[in-house]
Amino acid sequence: MPIAITFHGAAGTVTGSKHLLELTRTDGSTARVLLDCGMFQGEALANSNGKDRNRRFGFDPESIDAVVLSHAHIDHSGLLPRLVAEGFRGPIWSTPATRDLCAIMLEDSARIQEYDFTDAVRRAEKRGKAVPTEGPLYTVADVQPTMARFQTTDYNERLAILPGVELTYSDAGHILGSAAVHLSIDDGERSLRLSFTGDVGRYVDRLLPPPAPFPQADAIICESTYGDRDHADIAEAEEELLRHVTEVCVNRRGRLIIPAFSIGKTQEILYTLNALSNAGRLPRIPVFVDSPLAISATDIVRRHAALFRPEVREELHRDPDLFSFPGVSFVRESEQSKRLNGSKEPCIIISASGMMEAGRVRHHLLHALPNADNAVLAVGFCAPGTLGHELLNGARAVRIFGEHVPVNAEVLRMEFYSAHGDRKELLHYLECQDPARVRTLYLVHGEDGPRTALAGSFKERGFKNVQLPKLRERFEL
Ligand SMILES: [Zn+2]
Repeated sequence: MPIAITFHGAAGTVTGSKHLLELTRTDGSTARVLLDCGMFQGEALANSNGKDRNRRFGFDPESIDAVVLSHAHIDHSGLLPRLVAEGFRGPIWSTPATRDLCAIMLEDSARIQEYDFTDAVRRAEKRGKAVPTEGPLYTVADVQPTMARFQTTDYNERLAILPGVELTYSDAGHILGSAAVHLSIDDGERSLRLSFTGDVGRYVDRLLPPPAPFPQADAIICESTYGDRDHADIAEAEEELLRHVTEVCVNRRGRLIIPAFSIGKTQEILYTLNALSNAGRLPRIPVFVDSPLAISATDIVRRHAALFRPEVREELHRDPDLFSFPGVSFVRESEQSKRLNGSKEPCIIISASGMMEAGRVRHHLLHALPNADNAVLAVGFCAPGTLGHELLNGARAVRIFGEHVPVNAEVLRMEFYSAHGDRKELLHYLECQDPARVRTLYLVHGEDGPRTALAGSFKERGFKNVQLPKLRERFEL
């Protein structure tokens, strides 16, 4: 009887993660399990083929029996409210931390959908053009019924989620609660073990432990974001960050703007600054965390301290709050955020979004970029077409809110905070597997360049059959 997988997203792109597992049992009954339900973002939506990708799933949401989520990032979870609004009635499985993060992220995403739609209508009316007929992808009202479908299980617990389908999560070390998904599938005649890595973290000493090894699989779906490159060797993050803070804020008396993703990176940077502060090495410079989502996320991370690396949990005995230190302020109100721009005092501002495409950080950049005393510190991946990408590529001027902004500020970058493993780390992650026993390795969640390169590296390691699925391509397992 067939067991099949169809790739409905993240097939040649890094967004829209969505893989549909279909099982027909020997008694004729069927099961359909959706691995992730991510939103397409950025360039994946740019051309005419891409426009509708978030509106048409390519399968019937009502026919899905269960969703199994790898982690909370929007490119893995962001279409769940739409799936539920279109008739999905099963459970959504995740780890407890992923559920908590999804509650704030999906609501934030719904507000953005609503805002973008109202904004598009307003702009169309102003120009006398046709008003968009399709509404937002979903609204805030769709989030609560979605959250009500969540059911959670911890790492390393084996659980029957449907007849013939057992789920075990292992820690993927990517963000809080992130998991690799391991399914034991039995059609009544034969059984098969399918592992889906989700996004794979790094083997560096940060808040979270490195990715955990997992039991032998028959088929693996693996991410490939950085499949063609190795991150720069990491000096101590503390030393590098301290050097930037001292040079910009103390020596030049400028402002250091750190555009950072609200979840994950913001907490990692606060953790580094807190360590420097505890050691008495952080200069007395005000630090502002300017993002309501980051503040809520930091509270969730605090609540899940049991997931930290053992050495970090040990530190909690000496310092019960690893994200707070003298001089740090958390800015919720937008009036307070605007006041920050009026002041000329040296400070550090951590604000979303990481790719500098949206959010409050654009206001800070608008004011900071013209002054050569200031600096922007990029800490994550900036996709082509984003403001972050332009700055990192040496743009001398950019446009923000329609204004021409000269770039005189210094543009810095730190790779330490990247949440994705590089080529070497992805190869290392699958060293827990006997490649001869893996019938097929599917590479997803990477542009074609990186995943083709990674396929070559995996073949050298003995994985015989490495596939690069195309969008909507179906394979029998
Ligand atoms: Zn992710």
